[in-house]
Amino acid sequence: MRLKDISAKLTVAFAAAFVLFCAMANAETSPPGDASPEPASKTEVVATYARITGDGDRTRFIIDLSRSVTFTASALANPDRVILDMPEVRFDLPPKSGEAGRSLVKEWRYGLIAPGKSRIVLDMSGPARIDKSFVLPPVDGQPARLVIDFVKTTRDKFLADYPRPDAVPVDEAATKSDQKPVGATVSTKPIIVLDPGHGGIDTGAIGVDSVYEKAVVLQFAKLLKAKLEKEGAYKVLMTRDDDRFIPLGKRVEIARKLGANLLISIHADSAPQHYVRGATVYTLSERASDAIAAALAKHENSSDVLAGADLEDGPDGVADILIDLARRETKSFSILFARTLVSEFESAVKLIKNPWRSAGFRVLKAYDMPSILVELGYLSNKHDENLLVSDAWRERAADAMVASIARFFRPRLAQGQ
Ligand SMILES: [Zn+2]
Repeated sequence: MRLKDISAKLTVAFAAAFVLFCAMANAETSPPGDASPEPASKTEVVATYARITGDGDRTRFIIDLSRSVTFTASALANPDRVILDMPEVRFDLPPKSGEAGRSLVKEWRYGLIAPGKSRIVLDMSGPARIDKSFVLPPVDGQPARLVIDFVKTTRDKFLADYPRPDAVPVDEAATKSDQKPVGATVSTKPIIVLDPGHGGIDTGAIGVDSVYEKAVVLQFAKLLKAKLEKEGAYKVLMTRDDDRFIPLGKRVEIARKLGANLLISIHADSAPQHYVRGATVYTLSERASDAIAAALAKHENSSDVLAGADLEDGPDGVADILIDLARRETKSFSILFARTLVSEFESAVKLIKNPWRSAGFRVLKAYDMPSILVELGYLSNKHDENLLVSDAWRERAADAMVASIARFFRPRLAQGQ
């Protein structure tokens, strides 16, 4: 009996061990992604904290990382910027990191610049060279640290000390978008390109309650795309459908390559006057319609500067296209659509006073493609910020845009084109 007992116990133990073994084997052979989210974090690099110490003669920039990374430094003048490029990093930094600099570093930004590539752009308060830079590996539970010491230098030496930033990441981002026009040229449906503003390292405006413009406009663009596709009458494409940076000139180039019949750039910026609120529709003009429009265009046009993109290395020359090249016909179509959109918005959402405005937005400078820029609202205004994240408001605004697009293309669709 005793032997039988032992044998039974052994059988149970063996069976249990076998089940455990099978489970382990299974875990090892199951495809990645089926497993728990743990493995992904083993390979990703996370930035958790950053600080700046020192004085105007020597300023130290330190960023804590979950693992060591390699990085390259480059620089651009006007304004003076130092650009740090590195493999993809997830920036899990406290809110408002980068807003307040110190000594030689005025402020700084961070984010994805292209798939697999992250960038930190430091706005310098004056010309500075890197005296020392190193990465300390993680030890005893301490994070890895990327440390850069800046010292003052002369203006002449500033650019001589650094290479120019690599243009490759920017080109890669655009190339991926360029691959989307498959079938676009054979489509007989009107082609609409939605351009969610900002992205990646360029956050756009940050709301009173920390809503990011780049996120809120992407979400809206996706909703609008889905609604337009449901109509079945258009081909709808986007300049970006994830959190990546795309230079302004590239956005125009992408839309033109796709053969867009209408480009809608979507934003939700901030204004220095916190009472400013309501949706605004912008068309291109050489002279801004008013002070708010002028300030907004200036801010929007600085996207590439903020991201540390080297304009002179740009592939297109779009940056140099003069406003007066815009053909009259394109301009009148842009204005027609802007007016149509305003009239649809009137019954759906709150509009700013004089909701059709104009200014010299670079993203509207295609001379052969009707283009408008819509500011859904102002993140500097708390009421607008609340609306922009509300599903009900987004539905109403997107439906109004769908209606305006239908009205705009109706004559063409009626001809069976
Ligand atoms: Zn914007």
